Amino acid sequence: MRIIESIQEMQAFSNAARSEGRRISFVPTMGYLHQGHASLMREARRLSDIVVTSIFVNPTQFGAGEDFDAYPRDMERDKSIAEASGVDIIFAPKASAMYPRGYETYVDVERLTLPLCGASRPGHFRGVTTVVCKLFNIVMPHIALFGEKDFQQLAVIRRMVEDLNMGIEILGMPIVREEDGLAMSSRNAYLSPVQRQEALCLKRALDAVRTSYMSGELRVAALRETALAEISKVSSAVVDYAEFCDKHTLDEVLTAGAGTLLALAVRIGTTRLIDNTILGEE
Ligand code: AMP
Repeated sequence: MRIIESIQEMQAFSNAARSEGRRISFVPTMGYLHQGHASLMREARRLSDIVVTSIFVNPTQFGAGEDFDAYPRDMERDKSIAEASGVDIIFAPKASAMYPRGYETYVDVERLTLPLCGASRPGHFRGVTTVVCKLFNIVMPHIALFGEKDFQQLAVIRRMVEDLNMGIEILGMPIVREEDGLAMSSRNAYLSPVQRQEALCLKRALDAVRTSYMSGELRVAALRETALAEISKVSSAVVDYAEFCDKHTLDEVLTAGAGTLLALAVRIGTTRLIDNTILGEE
């Protein structure tokens, strides 16, 4: 496995690989890798000749007062997880190279970024699409893999790739969870042991809604109450949103059906956690 920090070197590597007819897959990350990231890398390994992952904590997707400075970082641990998951190249550029003095170009997906995390984190998706577009131009992959844990992000990236004719295949991968159901996330590292237990309220809320939906409750108002009731059992949990949307358009729905996305964002102390499920799917 090789670590590349230089943008030019990464582009030269990818150009050479492409001219040899090799298929490149790409897994963008912000590092502090866990088995959720590893599942994307292993699938990338299966699908291509060369697996590139990026480790870049992207400043433009963090709002003022968010956790950019505190975001956990551990390059040595990341290297061993990436290598064990079949990664060939870690691309780890410096922020000053990605956004040099005078930088002023941004990519904005307009409608899909309005609800959910877009509403509570203004400017977040503009940062995400901009950095992913830049990373695509640098790594030049044939295929890129994203987790459904960040469901809206995946939808926004698919839209960008289609709208801007990027010609990259986007693959969404299922949410990987801890044994007790908590969705894996680098941000779980912020949780104290007590908060780690409290954080299970997200998965419990998703499960309670799925059970109610399966028993025939389709009214979103009632299903939302079920979710909120489950979360409110944890007094420290503050709901940012609990929304039911069409999984393709992310438009709000009033009646649930197969393909309805239930998306949650909940604060446990200062840690904001997200999770989701698609009703009517495994
Ligand atoms: P991040 O480093 O949090 O920006 O995540 C990098 C990629 O890994 C994104 O495509 C995420 O959706 C994906 N990812 C993060 N956590 C999980 C998880 N628990 N299961 C599946 N994919 C994940």
